[in-house]
Amino acid sequence: MSLIAEREELPQLSEFELKLFARQLQLPDFGLESQQKLKAATVMISRVGGLGGTVAMLLARAGIGGLVLAHNGVIEHENLNRMHLAFREHLGKPRIEVFRETLLKINPELKLVCEPDNVTEENASRLVAQADIVVDGSPSFEERYLMNREAVRQNKPLVMAAMSGLEGYATTILPGATPCLSCIYPEPPEYWTVLGFPVIATSSVLVATIAAMEAIKLITGYGETLAGQLLYCDLSSNIFQRMQIEPRPDCAVCGPAAQTV
Ligand SMILES: [Zn+2]
Repeated sequence: MSLIAEREELPQLSEFELKLFARQLQLPDFGLESQQKLKAATVMISRVGGLGGTVAMLLARAGIGGLVLAHNGVIEHENLNRMHLAFREHLGKPRIEVFRETLLKINPELKLVCEPDNVTEENASRLVAQADIVVDGSPSFEERYLMNREAVRQNKPLVMAAMSGLEGYATTILPGATPCLSCIYPEPPEYWTVLGFPVIATSSVLVATIAAMEAIKLITGYGETLAGQLLYCDLSSNIFQRMQIEPRPDCAVCGPAAQTV
């Protein structure tokens, strides 16, 4: 099922776009309509670091119509081992502005909303409302719980992607149909570290690739998503596992008790 299926009119592709996307239009069963659906869609990305920034880059390359990005702060030295949208000349500059500039070089027609702040109680609802899908790459469980709550409230698919060291995790949350983040983690895991966690570009790019493809699948209906499944991968041993996850009946966000609030 495609997220954009019910829309009456899909945007046309220009001659330039048809040439630009010629190779992905060759994907079996992908087709012109999938490309038009990508152009019609907007994805919100919480935190554009090594993970979320790479998702933004991949979606821009794939022909997404719009992106809503949220991240505060500036480009720092230790970011440059993994951020494809930033270069040494950008050190000390506001990250969201640097990313805007680079993404518009990839696609000058890309519709961009750039929030120079991380997700908060104040902006979460507004940011999610502007998108068809949310991809969360935040290192903060507090921000992830806000995105989860808003996605469930606004009935929007949420792709959760996380990594640390050489390990990565991803799942796709479909409100009302799959477990939400609070079903999987009612409390933040004790081992989780927000600041200074180890990261090498290979693992953030791997998880970003999975997350971006989940967004593309949700938008176009192409392939099978990770809805209801948690993908775990470990690049140190090349282990890839998919685990079935179940909704938590007493979930405070998506359980029956939450519906009455
Ligand atoms: Zn839940």
